[in-house]
Amino acid sequence: MDRKMPQRGMMEEDMRMDNCIFCKIANGEIPAKTLYEDGQFRVILDLAPATKGHALILPKDHAANLCELSDAQASDALVLAKKMAAQMMEKLQCDGLNLVQNNGETAGQTVMHFHIHLIPRYHNDGQGIHWRPGTSTPEELEAVRKQIVE
Ligand code: 5GP
Ligand code: ZN
Repeated sequence: MDRKMPQRGMMEEDMRMDNCIFCKIANGEIPAKTLYEDGQFRVILDLAPATKGHALILPKDHAANLCELSDAQASDALVLAKKMAAQMMEKLQCDGLNLVQNNGETAGQTVMHFHIHLIPRYHNDGQGIHWRPGTSTPEELEAVRKQIVE
């Protein structure tokens, strides 16, 4: 167990962050359409869905992003994502599902409370999660490999 120590600005007992909308939603202070709830997480429907059923997994304890999660939160979040994905694919009869998780403004994160998007995909839904494939040389790949691991 490596639960995070409370940080400045957090209430010690519950690890919520003042003025964080997802802390308030996850802990039931602001209403949202809830698909699932347990002691650690709430799964809600996104207010501006990319597709029908677009949902968000929110931890009840505040963490700004992936790197701020405890190991236990991170593993439990992915197990929950798997469970929700299976349920949504069955019940919505969608054709696929994207898990999306943005970290940092540059990466598209707009709410600075960790969340995982579950985006059901339907044939011809007009959405896309795309990047333009780039190019690389073996030297560039080796340089970046070294930069990451050394
Ligand atoms: P991000 O861009 O940070 O990865 O995603 C934030 C998501 O939260 C967006 O898809 C946005 O529509 C959703 N969102 C923002 N505010 C609210 C809210 O008050 N309620 C709900 N249900 N979703 C929200
Ligand atoms: Zn929060």
